[in-house]
Amino acid sequence: MLAAIPSVDRALNMATTQVLIAEYGRTPVVSAIRTLLAELRDHVTRSDSLPADIFSEPAINLRLQSALQRSFRPSLRPVFNLTGTVLHTNLGRAQLPDVAVQAVIDAMTRPCNLEYDLDGGSRGDRDNLIEPLLQELTGAEAATVVNNNAAAVFLALNTLGLRKEVIVSRGELVEIGGSFRVPDIMSRAGCRLREVGTTNRTHLKDYTESISAKTAMLLKVHTSNYAIQGFTASVAEKNLAALAHEHGLPFMVDLGSGTLADLDKLGLPSEPTPQESLANGADLVTFSGDKLLGGPQAGIIIGRKDLIAKIKRNPLKRALRVDKMTYAALDAVLRLYRDPERLIQNLPTLRLLTRSTAEIEVVAKEVLPAVMLAMSGHATVAIKPCHSQIGSGSLPVNLLSSECLAISPLIKGRGEGSALKKIDQAFRQLPVPILGRIADGAFCLDMRCLETVHVNEFIGQIRQLTII
Ligand SMILES: *Cc1c(COP(=O)(O)O)cnc(C)c1O
Repeated sequence: MLAAIPSVDRALNMATTQVLIAEYGRTPVVSAIRTLLAELRDHVTRSDSLPADIFSEPAINLRLQSALQRSFRPSLRPVFNLTGTVLHTNLGRAQLPDVAVQAVIDAMTRPCNLEYDLDGGSRGDRDNLIEPLLQELTGAEAATVVNNNAAAVFLALNTLGLRKEVIVSRGELVEIGGSFRVPDIMSRAGCRLREVGTTNRTHLKDYTESISAKTAMLLKVHTSNYAIQGFTASVAEKNLAALAHEHGLPFMVDLGSGTLADLDKLGLPSEPTPQESLANGADLVTFSGDKLLGGPQAGIIIGRKDLIAKIKRNPLKRALRVDKMTYAALDAVLRLYRDPERLIQNLPTLRLLTRSTAEIEVVAKEVLPAVMLAMSGHATVAIKPCHSQIGSGSLPVNLLSSECLAISPLIKGRGEGSALKKIDQAFRQLPVPILGRIADGAFCLDMRCLETVHVNEFIGQIRQLTII
């Protein structure tokens, strides 16, 4: 049997191998051949029951092709996010609109005026690319952009609160996704956290009594991913701003998501906006670029001109700054907010969040037959009502009505759990992995985020589902 295994040279000279060399290059093909031949040798020495044609040219070609395809597949790949969480941090949060993608391509493939003042013909400041738009949209005096909102909070704290105290309510010491915890960010930024009030109730006098010569600023953190209900009290931004200003201190608000749109008007759960915080007297507001704003990953800091100037002079700004791709995408996304009437149409995040159950059901009905066929013998499939979440720290108690394909294994009781896991895994192994969630004894595919343009791709690959 061993003698039947072709040599590297013979495999390399096969006509079909030449096609692979043209596509992938000689070096990777040679190394794929070596790996494959070693595998075959291994098989032969361990077992005698190999398919008769295993050393034939077509069989070798098929295995080489699939090995090369796998190794050339990019590590970062598109997936179908049917988990029901629209802004999913692990799945890349906001999807960019085409105008932003085009802006990124232009910025990446040609020289651009990233730090060049075209009017003056001299060196410019990259923040000038987005500052006028943010001034127009939020009423802020000034703006700057860093890598993400965690960096925005960190940089602002480090600039204004180094070796001093920052006063925050105990009810606002949030953790977002494990690695961002207000107390940790605060200590890494070199500030002392001065907690005031209790978990459920904090009053103005708690802040007043804590202000001293050591105080650097008052901070309010939007408790975006949980709600304290019942016997609660917190101090309004207006009152905190007034108190801070009485003592000559800055007042900062970390909004987290911070949409620029009026979500109430769109029929979505309301979220505070940066423009409201500024109007309430905040001196600085920080928010994310890729949460409800619907843009690229970024942290935006807006507010008082003198404070923003100080933040920009911090040497850490250089370490946290963003590149031209981010400015290009952010500029394009912010521009969409100038046309509020067509914002929902133009911005994927808001389009998906405001999709009606009727629209979602149309998509569910379109894909149902293909999924039923693929699941026959394994599971029943039905369209059921479900709830989507906004995600990325927006109130998890605010759910959006949606429709899902509920895939329930035929096996009940013992074995049902592992059958569900196998279904989940089979969907994840597809060329464009389909991600759902397991809930109430079913594998659920929330159809809210299956866009009409991707329906054919979805159906096309369902045939390849293999459940083992
Ligand atoms: C999400 C969030 C952050 C962190 O923002 P990233 O853009 O993920 O770095 C900080 N603060 C609050 C209140 C948040 O909701």
